[in-house]
Amino acid sequence: SFFCPSTGIYNGPWSSSLAPTPPLSLPQFLLSHSASSSSSKPAFIDAETGVALTFANLRALTAAAARALAVLGVRRGDVVLHVSPNSLHFPALVLAVMSLGAVFSTANFLQTRSEIQSQVQDSGPVLILTTADLAPKLDGLIPRPPTLIDQFLASLSIDRNAPVEFPGVGPADPAALMYSSGTTGKSKGVVSSHGNLVAMASVLRHVWGRREEVYACVVPLSHMFGFSVFVCGAVAAGATVVVLRRYALDELLMAVEEHRVTLLPAVPPMVVQLARSGGVARANYDLRSLREVISSGAPLGRDNMERFADAYPGITLSQCYGLTETSGPVTVCHGLKGRFQISIGRLIPTVEAKIVHVRTGKALPPNEHGELCLRGPPVMQGYLKNQEATSLAIDEEGWLRTGDLCYIDTQGHVYVVDRIKELIKYKAYQVAPAELEEVLSTHPEILDVAVTPYPDEEAGEIPMACVVRKAGSKIREEDIISFMEKKVAPYKKIRKVLFVEIIPRSPSGKILRRHLKATVMQHRKLG
Ligand code: AMP
Repeated sequence: SFFCPSTGIYNGPWSSSLAPTPPLSLPQFLLSHSASSSSSKPAFIDAETGVALTFANLRALTAAAARALAVLGVRRGDVVLHVSPNSLHFPALVLAVMSLGAVFSTANFLQTRSEIQSQVQDSGPVLILTTADLAPKLDGLIPRPPTLIDQFLASLSIDRNAPVEFPGVGPADPAALMYSSGTTGKSKGVVSSHGNLVAMASVLRHVWGRREEVYACVVPLSHMFGFSVFVCGAVAAGATVVVLRRYALDELLMAVEEHRVTLLPAVPPMVVQLARSGGVARANYDLRSLREVISSGAPLGRDNMERFADAYPGITLSQCYGLTETSGPVTVCHGLKGRFQISIGRLIPTVEAKIVHVRTGKALPPNEHGELCLRGPPVMQGYLKNQEATSLAIDEEGWLRTGDLCYIDTQGHVYVVDRIKELIKYKAYQVAPAELEEVLSTHPEILDVAVTPYPDEEAGEIPMACVVRKAGSKIREEDIISFMEKKVAPYKKIRKVLFVEIIPRSPSGKILRRHLKATVMQHRKLG
């Protein structure tokens, strides 16, 4: 029943049990739901200060922030860029921007000025919301100086009775703009509509939707995993989210104990660190409230899962899987038994999958390896101003290519086997090889270059450069590493260099990435 042999389409176990998505904007959907959860309940708590934002505060703050943004000139269709670490006020800013029909865009705050500048040139924000320490990096990128979030919040006149206005914003309007390189090339703006995000919010409420849940938020809210789980899912469920500004193991464990956290969405390096420090963590903190850790964003190896399960007998380790392009998780382990999950779970309601042969495109039956393709209401509208990339990613029938090699068993469990797209994931952060290649090729002593993932115990993968030196050049690995260090965000740094005679390219000049990966693996074996 999970697989239809005549169409080649897979479904999850819940398909029939979800009410149709209401035709609302995301703020309308979320604020009408949170209206029904008791308004004095904390929606978000700052782990560091203990300050709580109740559902009533969230509504009032959203209304006031929306009015103030309108006064600043933000109009329907405008892009507002948010650059900041996690904060208690992130969800209200999102909902305020979106309630005006403007588009909420994010950039990783660790990126360099020039990296953020390319994104600004692509998306044309009218306003940049940021913190005082990040403002100098962003000054001058747009005509208006950066708006400091703290000052902006302090200037609001909050009226608990003022309603949030929803001026005719509907499901087809763009709501969020996050950046992803997809299966190939450089970063592109992923346009998620209100309809996409409401679909995700109602699905997450359906699968994880318990009001008693207390989530710890340590993954970045600026990335779709955090955004979908905390801003869409948790608010829709009326649950409480404890927000940590950044990830530090001790602070996380302290927050779990203090706020009786029940659910921890995490990325693999956090799970690995938790597993390693199991004994100490359990001796020093009361973690009995924590029921489940959900790993996503990159693969987690079986040995690390076993290690985690041994270290925390009372905690279930599950996984979920999604892409920026799917507005959040499309497979979840909800309802599966076991201390940890090798599979990434089963398809969420409303989302269908196909497994297609990498060369022939033929749809494959259970247990055969092929590229995972996805279709359903959470799949993005497309890449911003890039019809070519959009049609390469989504075919005429609405199937999105994930670039992940997967299989689905007869019970509907989905397994990731390998990544076939160009993307590198350093600690689950996206690193696009094409971007690093462009920067590296500006080096005067580099004749040709290709960037590829290299396996790493801590980070999952590190970016490695395969370099062909110009004749006579004596440039060393350290020179290349330090050349890049100043030009890219810390998580994009080149951490390893292999000097080669030639970069394998097709007659049209495209890097043959599979050949390259094979060369690197061979080199690794030889040590
Ligand atoms: P992003 O758009 O940054 O969320 O990256 C999406 C990609 O992350 C997917 O296409 C996968 O390659 C990878 N990914 C996400 N979740 C998982 C998971 N649970 N296991 C393995 N890879 C994952």
